Amino acid sequence: MIVCKFGGTSVASAEQIKKVFNIVKSNPERKIVAVSAPGKRSNEDIKVTDLLIDLATAALEGGDVEAKIDTVVKRYEDIAVGLGLDDTMSKIIADDLRARVAGDQSNKELFIDNIKASGEDNNAKLIAAYFNLAGIPARYVSPKEGLVVNDLPERTFALPEAYENLAVLKDSEEVVIFPGFFGYTKEGILRTFDRGGSDITGSILASAVSADLYENFTDVDCVFSANPKVVNNPAEIKEITYREMRELSYAGFSVFHDEALMPVYKQGIPVTIKNTNNPSAPGTRIVPSRTTGQDRPVTGISADSGFSILYVSKYLMNREVGFGRKLLQIIEEENISYEHTPSGLDDISVILRSCQLTDEKEERILKRVSEELHADYVDFRHGFSMIVIVGEGMRRNTGLAARAAKAISMTGANIEMINQGSSEVSLVFGVEEHHGDQILKSLYTEFFSAVTV
Ligand code: ASP
Repeated sequence: MIVCKFGGTSVASAEQIKKVFNIVKSNPERKIVAVSAPGKRSNEDIKVTDLLIDLATAALEGGDVEAKIDTVVKRYEDIAVGLGLDDTMSKIIADDLRARVAGDQSNKELFIDNIKASGEDNNAKLIAAYFNLAGIPARYVSPKEGLVVNDLPERTFALPEAYENLAVLKDSEEVVIFPGFFGYTKEGILRTFDRGGSDITGSILASAVSADLYENFTDVDCVFSANPKVVNNPAEIKEITYREMRELSYAGFSVFHDEALMPVYKQGIPVTIKNTNNPSAPGTRIVPSRTTGQDRPVTGISADSGFSILYVSKYLMNREVGFGRKLLQIIEEENISYEHTPSGLDDISVILRSCQLTDEKEERILKRVSEELHADYVDFRHGFSMIVIVGEGMRRNTGLAARAAKAISMTGANIEMINQGSSEVSLVFGVEEHHGDQILKSLYTEFFSAVTV
């Protein structure tokens, strides 16, 4: 059995949904289909999820929401008309959206979640109606039927019982159309995953029904070994391990949500990334281990900006028991997660995603580190990129770090931080943001230009 997930651009219009139908029809193993909200139809278009966030924010601010509701409903109406559905479904969608907008606003986050999730929920209902009309018996299944998630305030994740509950879907007579992106707490409160979270839903479903394969349909033929917007014509990745994919999606490979690997990884279910607009292309396979690509140590290079460094120095830091714990606790108490902690004898850097910081948080952290930890020096530095070189073959390769450092030095950039995880599957360089693209190009030339994949 195959679980497939179709992303926003794959379900953005009637024309796209017809492609989805044909893909599902062409293989009877495709029994469970997770869908996103309608995404962009062109570069200038706006994703329905973004329209919904805008609508929810306006509602919270007491603004006029009528025009915003109409814009969203119109998107679905256009799709319904294009699919030859009568107006029943558009009415259901309009009523549903209005009910959500009139809902409880006492918790802003949950109010926004509820409106945001209507994008996927209503699209799933609409797609199920079309499948039935066009000849595939299909059934919309609500995440209420088992996708149980945790309560606030932690980020949303599926509870273990979700997998048990959803296992029954494998016996469904009809094709299951399941909205991505959200679940319900035990008390029945709707919560969404992070942006791009329909990938996570698909993975949870694949794991719950012990699928043979999880197919993730998007709008590119495959995962590339570097960002094609920066590197000209990068090599296509045919096969990649979970670990490699995890490392690459951490730093900017947005093709597949990094959290989505966990449920399938636990069961060793392979994933393929495929293109709805070109389904016969083989795509990229994400597998537990691989035999291909042994000829090259590096599988991919990613780069992501938006990092800050908390730099702390204190003489004899290395002898002070508990210094690291106390420092990380201060960060924890501001509800901030960290990425890396490279350190020297008397200093340590904590690398964080800048989006988690505010002026107030920074001020409090600096004050506490100075006063409670008696640091000699502490500051925040902003505007860094993390460049990540990833490959299972790196472990067996001598001199790889030297080659990478040389390629970086050729751009004139200074390396602010180097981190090689113990697994040796990745090597991370922290650099000033404005050097990011040049470095990516230089590293790509070093590791890929002479290689045929
Ligand atoms: N529609 C949601 C988003 O835009 C979730 C998804 O498409 O995966 O983030």
